[in-house]
Amino acid sequence: MNNPIITVRNVSKYYKNGEVQTVALREANLDIYPGQSVALVGPSGCGKSTLLHLIAGIDSPSQGEIYVDGHPFHALNEEKLARLRGQIIGIVFQFFNLLPTLSVIENVMLPALLQGVVDHAASKAAKELLAEVGLSHRLSHYPHQLSGGEMQRVALARALIMKPKIILADEPTGNLDSETTERILSLIKKLVLEYQLTLLMVTHSLEVAKSADRILNMKDGRLFS
Ligand code: ADP
Ligand code: MG
Repeated sequence: MNNPIITVRNVSKYYKNGEVQTVALREANLDIYPGQSVALVGPSGCGKSTLLHLIAGIDSPSQGEIYVDGHPFHALNEEKLARLRGQIIGIVFQFFNLLPTLSVIENVMLPALLQGVVDHAASKAAKELLAEVGLSHRLSHYPHQLSGGEMQRVALARALIMKPKIILADEPTGNLDSETTERILSLIKKLVLEYQLTLLMVTHSLEVAKSADRILNMKDGRLFS
């Protein structure tokens, strides 16, 4: 079998707020293999976003090791993490996180420009991806002129602009109505197959989870397979 593309070894995460310490993640262990679609479910506050942020290298573990595509994320500085994250990982959030002052195509181009891709190449790739998610007619719109489903399509195109191997999605349909949820989920499925992505997706919906290759449960900072 292939090597895992994501490995989490004995990872714990503590947050300190003055005197109060919160344990967000307790001794988590996880291997995800290339091409797997994994759903992460569990009640609010159990540590799902924390785990995603650690795997994304947005936050660092208090203890333990995290390897992403062979890189020791627990041991790298922020600059290296930002560069690797930009190349390997696409991230999708519940509230889309588009930049309001940038147009649709500019939002999608931004990660590529930040990674040093030249303007015309970034623009070409962004147009192709926006066609792929059905938004060719919205290139010059601004986020506030779009529906929730359209904003999440833009966010998906943005997540794919650097041809990542991994998509981390944190409740990507949590802010959408049920019909739009269906459409976004089938779009995610299509993109995962087409670009041979590894997917780790936080979701509250058991329905959604059932369509994944694997379901991970979390409770009180503990991870269960
Ligand atoms: P979930 O995504 O499952 O709802 P989170 O990973 O966001 O849960 O949070 C797990 C726990 O860690 C919660 O108790 C939350 O309040 C706490 N937490 C998360 N981020 C921080 C932070 N930056 N500072 C302090 N506590 C945090
Ligand atoms: Mg969360």
